[in-house]
Amino acid sequence: MAQTLSTLAYLVASVLFILALRGLSNPETSRQGNLFGMVGMAIAVVATLLKPGMGAGGIVIVLAGLAIGGTIGTVLAQRIQMTSLPQLVAAFHSLVGMAAVFVAAAAFYAPESFGIGVPGNIKGASLVEMSLGLAIGAITFSGSVIAFAKLDGRMSGSPIIFKGQHMLNAALGALLLVLVIAFVITGSPVLFWLIAILSFALGFLLIIPIGGADMPVVVSMLNSYSGWAAAGIGFTIGNLLLIVTGALVGASGAILSYIMCKGMNRSIVNVLLGGFGGDGGAAAAGGGAGAADRAPVKAGSPEDAAYIMKNAQKIIIVPGYGMAVAQAQQVVREMADLLKKEGAEISYAIHPVAGRMPGHMNVLLAEANVPYDEVHELEEINAEFADADVAYVIGANDVTNPAAKTDKSSAIYGMPILDVERAKTVFFVKRGMASGYAGVENELFFRPNTMMLFGDAKKVTQQIVQSLQK
Ligand code: NDP
Repeated sequence: MAQTLSTLAYLVASVLFILALRGLSNPETSRQGNLFGMVGMAIAVVATLLKPGMGAGGIVIVLAGLAIGGTIGTVLAQRIQMTSLPQLVAAFHSLVGMAAVFVAAAAFYAPESFGIGVPGNIKGASLVEMSLGLAIGAITFSGSVIAFAKLDGRMSGSPIIFKGQHMLNAALGALLLVLVIAFVITGSPVLFWLIAILSFALGFLLIIPIGGADMPVVVSMLNSYSGWAAAGIGFTIGNLLLIVTGALVGASGAILSYIMCKGMNRSIVNVLLGGFGGDGGAAAAGGGAGAADRAPVKAGSPEDAAYIMKNAQKIIIVPGYGMAVAQAQQVVREMADLLKKEGAEISYAIHPVAGRMPGHMNVLLAEANVPYDEVHELEEINAEFADADVAYVIGANDVTNPAAKTDKSSAIYGMPILDVERAKTVFFVKRGMASGYAGVENELFFRPNTMMLFGDAKKVTQQIVQSLQK
């Protein structure tokens, strides 16, 4: 009876997780999606606690783990800035990977607790599942630690590339396969730990060559890996819900990686094998002609911008990472409201990798109650720039950089970009001439139809609002 109830509860939780994913696919239903996910997880935890054979000792250990992990998670989540979410996500993925390694070790050394055999005589199928969970978990752990260090600026974001890198990765991948096969045949503890060490090294080697603008794909790919690691471990310990949840995370992460790859015009195969950053060295150093060869930069004041926008018919706002840093989304909406009263048509152009996490700009604009029908994805809006009077680029840089179309040596070469330069006037709101995340200089700053509005995104936009109100 208790077993049936627990299976039923797991089924309900699985359905709720699927509904959660569905809800998260649209900003309007995302809150509800989150709620489904939370209820599903609460049901899963309670059902696990009530599982037959759990025992008082087991319940105390799970509750203690929940209390410690829950407290750390709550404190971290409260302290973290929105702009640092990607590195937090990468750090969380590393924990999922490490958990998979620990569970694999627990199952290997105490197989009787999981009903998969006795030490020295574990079922063959369990050894396969265990080694896969272990390998994917260890790759996820070290890969996520490197992703965290790169995203958090603790390590250079530039690709680390050396001769024969792909050959080395391929050779290590083949060696890993051989070790897994040997482990499944012999069940040797030495092979278990060799798989772990090799996988940690592989995770590290797969992520170091990825640099600059390609990090978003890495984050979603590690998300997918962490799901598959959990699913693998779910098989080992015979937990249906872990298999379902892991597969959901793995599959949704893979779909997200695919979408991001399309957004960045990268090949998914290269991403999976690591090192698709290419030879970004030259690009990271700038690429293209130096600033000295360029026309002088035209800088304007917020008053100038307000005057030009007041007389504009069609304005496209392009938000980027700097808007998130400055928390300027609310004042951007105020500016848009005032411009609409002046008769302008306003729309927002969202690049798939703008900001520092997938959907970053959508979340910020939703927070500021920007109407959804004014927010457009790159493919929908790119043709519109040619008819626009103004492109108001606020804290965005890489996502507008035409080097992606013209400079083959650039780290962002091939990435589709927002064609802001086709608007009659382009305003760039940023603090100085610094390049964006990918470290590539943006020649648009020097174009005759560009006016730089130097300053903090929120302050500059506030000054424009004040001018519009006069
Ligand atoms: P970028 O990083 O290209 O540029 C942001 C610009 O904002 C900078 O040039 C900076 O210039 C400016 N800025 C920073 N703070 C402020 C501020 N307070 N006020 C005004 N401006 C400010 O951002 P984009 O959104 O254009 O592109 C995103 C980049 O991040 C891409 O390369 C993408 O690949 C990468 N990335 C994306 C992730 C995702 O999932 N979306 C994850 C990881 C990386 P200045 O210093 O002169 O002010």
